[in-house]
Amino acid sequence: MKDVLKPCPFCGGKANIEPNGRNTYLLDCLSCGIGGDAFTSGQVAKEAWNRREGENLLLDKVDVILRTVKDDILNEIERHPLNPNVGKRGALSRVCWAILEIKRLK
Ligand SMILES: [Zn+2]
Repeated sequence: MKDVLKPCPFCGGKANIEPNGRNTYLLDCLSCGIGGDAFTSGQVAKEAWNRREGENLLLDKVDVILRTVKDDILNEIERHPLNPNVGKRGALSRVCWAILEIKRLK
């Protein structure tokens, strides 16, 4: 999976990286032709192609939500040591909140 080129962000086509004979590698989309940039190595070209702005931002937001929920659930369980069902209901409600928050992310 790590070595696979992502589909073209514009047309969904397959990308291609190949040496151009001048110690650089050309990268472009085989369907729409976007790209054409030269890179110092195939690996650098692949990393540039696969980098999508906003993607990591979204994952960071999900990470914050999940960490918050984990802390909330641990707190719920600690707050109700003698009545575990209350803690479980609180934990379940926090999981539902996390699902809704993740669905709202853009
Ligand atoms: Zn394309």
